[in-house]
Amino acid sequence: MAGTTAALILATQQFAHHPAYEDPDIDAFLFVESAPRFEALPYHRHKIVLLLAAMRHTAARLEAEGRTVHRIELSEDLGFAAGVERLVQRHGIERLAWMSATDRGVDERLLRLCTRLGLHSRRYEDALFLTTAADIDAWFAEHPRTPMEDFYRWQRRRTGILMTGDTPAGGRWNFDADNRKPLPRGGIDIPGLRHPSPDAITAQVIAEVSERFPGHPGDAGLFWLPVTPEQSRSHLRRFVRERLEDFGPYEDAMAADEPFLFHAVVSPLLNIGLLTVEEVVEAVTGSPGAPLASVEGFVRQVIGWREYMRGMYRAHPDLERANELRLTKRVERWWCTGRGVPDDLPVPVRTVLERVHHWGYAHHIERLMVLGNWFLLQGYAPRQVNRWFLALFVDAYPWVMVPNVMGMSQYADGGLVGTKPYVSGGAYLQKMGSWWGSAREARESAFTDAYWRFLEDNEDVLSSNPRLSLPLAQLRQRRDAAR
Ligand code: FAD
Repeated sequence: MAGTTAALILATQQFAHHPAYEDPDIDAFLFVESAPRFEALPYHRHKIVLLLAAMRHTAARLEAEGRTVHRIELSEDLGFAAGVERLVQRHGIERLAWMSATDRGVDERLLRLCTRLGLHSRRYEDALFLTTAADIDAWFAEHPRTPMEDFYRWQRRRTGILMTGDTPAGGRWNFDADNRKPLPRGGIDIPGLRHPSPDAITAQVIAEVSERFPGHPGDAGLFWLPVTPEQSRSHLRRFVRERLEDFGPYEDAMAADEPFLFHAVVSPLLNIGLLTVEEVVEAVTGSPGAPLASVEGFVRQVIGWREYMRGMYRAHPDLERANELRLTKRVERWWCTGRGVPDDLPVPVRTVLERVHHWGYAHHIERLMVLGNWFLLQGYAPRQVNRWFLALFVDAYPWVMVPNVMGMSQYADGGLVGTKPYVSGGAYLQKMGSWWGSAREARESAFTDAYWRFLEDNEDVLSSNPRLSLPLAQLRQRRDAAR
């Protein structure tokens, strides 16, 4: 074939085995580091370091194998499409291949660019998931409003993961009754995470990011994540060896002084291809000693929730603009800068916010029941909340944020993703995380006040939801008692 065929490797597709690497038609690999793209929001500097360091390591690996690599560097200051165009022109590229992007709009922009530049285009299937786009679209077309549990059972049956014939391993689909405990009162040994030391490539990225994005949250010098497939696999193996056993029982637990507990911290890696769903599932289900309740609880998150959220994002594009409760409060600057945080911010919110600024990470129940809960109780506009999560978290991309933030956490969809708003007062937080000095302090906290106020303000809309009948009955009792 005359003329050059190039494969564009997107930032979120740093696979050890990208299909383009095995494609005999590909002559060159393209990487675009777009500084303006990273300036679109105040992205946490660890997220920028992660993406750039992972891309540069992939490019270096390909070069070491003798492949042809063309790159747009951060310092060239080009937008993403302009960067692709520059490479096409610079290197006489006539055909462009890429892996379908998960976020809406990216493929469309690239297709438009190809049409404008007269390039032939070709796409590989998105490999960030176990389920193909066609299969997930077909399932959601048939089940547009079906709960995650049904999707999850379909996934288990279809893939055979944790199945013996048609029967779920252990004879049950769900081990939640064994899970979801607070940490034991007497304390528990929590194995620490090991952070890979930055090599020369990562150190260079850290220096560039510190200089180029001075106003962004997070200290690039404290970057802590794996940036290659090998480092990521070793991080995964450590989780399976040291923390998987206690993942299930404590997946909903919180602790003021412990950011990771028994969580895997694999979403930043899964979401950019450094780990694949297949290898995560294989490592977890192949672990000899781990109890089934933990293994099933973890598999449910990865092949259930994660893929279900992607299906929801594809099936319900309107989710991005939803605002069922018509909330309008703006997210203040201090959420992004971490400076000038009000003194009266409740202790769990303050602690988790500090954690997010430090690590770009908080675990699921902190995202849902501390941050998301507080945003909703305070009446922040859901799209503003979504932008904040998108900017501050190392694993955040629109396909996963929109259903989790707009849907599950902020109830902007009126109960499509979650069946009720995830709100609580201080009592639940105290039970799962001992944030305050005593149960009484928790009950009398600003969190609890905000909870009752939220129910009061939204009583009309929420009263049609059967899952809220108990808290709304309690609200009425409180009102009657106060009369
Ligand atoms: P673990 O607790 O160890 O779970 C294992 C894996 O399961 C995760 O790595 C993730 O890949 C998957 N998973 C579990 N729950 C979900 C879910 N609800 N949606 C998607 N995947 C899930 N996840 C992201 O990947 N990126 C985000 O930006 C993101 N933002 C969130 C915001 C809010 C408000 C909420 C409520 C949830 C969000 N989640 C997000 C889902 C979940 O909180 C994170 O995937 C998880 O905390 C990542 O940490 P971990 O790898 O230690 O997860």
